[in-house]
Amino acid sequence: MLKHEAINGIKNIFAKTFGESGNIIVSRAPGRVNLIGEHTDYNDGFVFPMALDFQILVAARKNDSETVRIYSSDFDQTVEFSLKQPIQYDQEKRWSNYLRGVLVMLQEKGVKLCGMDIAFQGNIPQGSGLSSSAALEVATVVMAQKLLGFKIEKPELVKLCQRAENKFVGMNCGIMDQFISMMGEQGHALFLDCRSLDYKLVPLELGDCRIIICQSGVKHTLVDSEYNKRRQECEQGLAILARHFPAIKALRDAKMEQLEALKSEFNPVVYRRCKHVITEDDRVLASMNALSRGDLKSFGQFMNASHDSLRDDYEVSCPEIDLLVRLAREVRGVLGSRITGGGFGGCTVSLIEAKAEAEFSEHIRKNYQTTTGIIPQIYISTAASGAAIIA
Ligand code: ADP
Ligand code: MG
Repeated sequence: MLKHEAINGIKNIFAKTFGESGNIIVSRAPGRVNLIGEHTDYNDGFVFPMALDFQILVAARKNDSETVRIYSSDFDQTVEFSLKQPIQYDQEKRWSNYLRGVLVMLQEKGVKLCGMDIAFQGNIPQGSGLSSSAALEVATVVMAQKLLGFKIEKPELVKLCQRAENKFVGMNCGIMDQFISMMGEQGHALFLDCRSLDYKLVPLELGDCRIIICQSGVKHTLVDSEYNKRRQECEQGLAILARHFPAIKALRDAKMEQLEALKSEFNPVVYRRCKHVITEDDRVLASMNALSRGDLKSFGQFMNASHDSLRDDYEVSCPEIDLLVRLAREVRGVLGSRITGGGFGGCTVSLIEAKAEAEFSEHIRKNYQTTTGIIPQIYISTAASGAAIIA
């Protein structure tokens, strides 16, 4: 969607809901796809996401009251709450908790809120591992900063959005999603050290290759419970490693030799979880290296290895996703394909030669539907820019 069309679209929605008058501002924040580095963020490790062309748009205006009114265009629902009382979690209109959470965390930072009208809409597939939730938080905080004029630096805003999701929404996610949504840059992917939050914008020079995302259309209910279980298993493994090697403060610090040396102390499941995290960090570094040499073939192979590790060692894939990956790899011109996001459904990300695009889409559409009965959504996205005020 063109920028001015997007702005007009959300402004019209706002005006229909809250009236025309006054100065309406508009923020945007993108979803993301993680190219490599899965389940490493909460282990202080490395990730390599890029921002997508898909985004959340938020339009807002002060309303000279103590009331916040929020309209979700996609759900066609409104919530309203007073700032005279503490902001509460909403059991019914759960979409509102992402915005409520951000406002609560701003209050905790000492920001004085005021009444405002907010309308938002998005085109990021929801609940598919492309981080519509982080985009919603980041678009909200960017809007709030413009409307209220407080001074908080971007990295702090990123952490604030993560806290909103961890503490208010109750999803124990790492920092990656909010970080890339805020800091992404057009034509670049972002290498992030999740410990120091040092980052590097890396030009994504894909030449004749493309990034393709396939949405499986499934989201298995185990996501949250299994996610928390994985985190605990990482903690268990870390405790053993740290007992022998005190310099290991997170799995990011561990080497495969160290894990191997202690293998007999590990239960096999925890061993495999740690193996995934340690090798995945290595793969992120190696794939960055490959990219800097223009070696996309190796980059694709690291993506493949990442998937296999997530499937076999971390066990966060599922039959539908494994099928998408297998079908992708059957197409000539596909350099790599893997699950992306938390797991148990959601999306795959593939690196393919542009000339293979038509065959790729046809092969996946036909065979995925035959086996699963689900029509997969297939998206091509370039690396988009991060959050901004656009009007
Ligand atoms: P993901 O971040 O992978 O898309 P989540 O479950 O973390 O999945 O977040 C999805 C939730 O975010 C939705 O269920 C909804 O509550 C909220 N959300 C995302 N996009 C929108 C939107 N366009 N309109 C309303 N709510 C949205
Ligand atoms: Mg999310």
